[in-house]
Amino acid sequence: MNSPIDVLADDHTALLTDITPTVGRTRPILDPATGEEVGLAPVHTLEDLERAVDAATAAQPAWAALGHEHRSELLMRAADAIDANAEALAQILTREQGKPLNGPNARFEVGGASGWLRAAAATPLEAEVVFDDGDTHAEIHYRPIGVVGAIGPWNWPQMITVWQIAPALRMGNTVVVKPSEYTPLSVLALVAVINEVLPEGVLNIVVGGREVGAALSSHPAVGKVMFTGSTATGKAIIRSSADTVKRLTLELGGNDAGIVLPDVDPKAIAEGLFWGAFINTGQTCAALKRLYVHDDVYDDVVDALSAVAAAMPMGVGTDEQNVLGPLQNRAQFDIVDRLVEAAKASGARVVLGGEPDRDQPGNFYPTTLIADIDNDNPLVAEEQFGPALPIIRYTDIDQVIAMANGVDVGLGASVWSGDRERAREVAARIQAGTVWINSHGGVHPMIPFGGAKQSGYGLEFGVEGLKSLGVPQVING
Ligand code: NAD
Repeated sequence: MNSPIDVLADDHTALLTDITPTVGRTRPILDPATGEEVGLAPVHTLEDLERAVDAATAAQPAWAALGHEHRSELLMRAADAIDANAEALAQILTREQGKPLNGPNARFEVGGASGWLRAAAATPLEAEVVFDDGDTHAEIHYRPIGVVGAIGPWNWPQMITVWQIAPALRMGNTVVVKPSEYTPLSVLALVAVINEVLPEGVLNIVVGGREVGAALSSHPAVGKVMFTGSTATGKAIIRSSADTVKRLTLELGGNDAGIVLPDVDPKAIAEGLFWGAFINTGQTCAALKRLYVHDDVYDDVVDALSAVAAAMPMGVGTDEQNVLGPLQNRAQFDIVDRLVEAAKASGARVVLGGEPDRDQPGNFYPTTLIADIDNDNPLVAEEQFGPALPIIRYTDIDQVIAMANGVDVGLGASVWSGDRERAREVAARIQAGTVWINSHGGVHPMIPFGGAKQSGYGLEFGVEGLKSLGVPQVING
């Protein structure tokens, strides 16, 4: 582990001061790398939620009346505001979430936030003619829903907030954001920057725990909830939204399989496998969480992956050289710790890591590779959401596909092969919302993304993502 050094451009303090509450209850947010205080977050109440929903409701008609072109212009300006504050946003994100500034981490996330906002603003959405026989002419238009609730997780707090709010705003809705209680400062800062540009009441934020989330997802004035988080919470939101028949987009947990076919070059794929599994120190919904490798190349893949993994520096995120950081919270550290201990107890082989310091002030769990592990081991069967990858040996393609499909969730998956057509045949048999070939987890603002099975429903990104933030209205005649 590397020792912390002071950052060069510590320009995040002004933004942190801007979002620090001057009235009301607050609570300290601690840096998961050091245990030091990062800042103070407000503790909002259900009355605060009511005020936010009222403000969003009042602002919505005028926002919708602006039309697509004007709203898109404002969203483009909001993306420029994010870019202008990018370093400050990244510094807050690193301190609060733990992810390093560099690598595919904090600066990358802020860049993604402005990129996705621009894409949602720029994507054309025309009315579609669905039928025309000369007599009947039917078109589908997408009208604003009204007020949208955006409930997010702690792993990619700024980027996922933008994934939720950008299409919502673009489509003429106003929004109430409810960030994770673990990462409120990152989202408060992002919302403050965007609100330099947007009219008052269009984008609101309420910082609270699960009771605020539950109240938002049952609120009669909220027409849709965009939710990203665990499958268990997704199910709670389905229940609490039922009485008001809310529209839902649910991006839930995953346990993505990667299948390595025998025709790969192990050294050539090792870095792709590593980042597929360890991006954001494994705290990513669509990370590679179970790696299945054919017996013919098993030892070579394990060796090549281990060489890459051992060379990746983990440490305090403000140290510019690090690309892996701590777990965001101790509860997640404990989950990873429990699963790796279960794997060790079963006789699986620790190739790398697996010996955390449980007395440290931070939540660092070392990069861990576990080989020769059974498919029914808890580290394989459950979502670890951290830097510990189980590597399972297989010989039979039908059997490995059955193992890949043998879980309740199906967010992503990947197939690794020198033969693209062969990989596509295998991909077609995997139950997952996205199957990548020779990579894992890459997302793009124009390529729809969503889960199969209990990983949720609804698509985000691109034209499909815009449509899901509108009410389809058929004009027939
Ligand atoms: P979580 O479900 O614990 O919390 C997510 C959000 O839901 C938080 O803001 C929380 O306050 C709120 N919440 C909790 N209980 C609620 C309730 N009853 N009603 C309404 N809101 C409630 O998830 P997390 O631990 O923050 O995130 C990690 C999980 O999210 C992992 O399972 C991961 O795979 C998943 N995830 C999925 C995606 C995706 O796109 N599919 C992306 C990121 C994370």
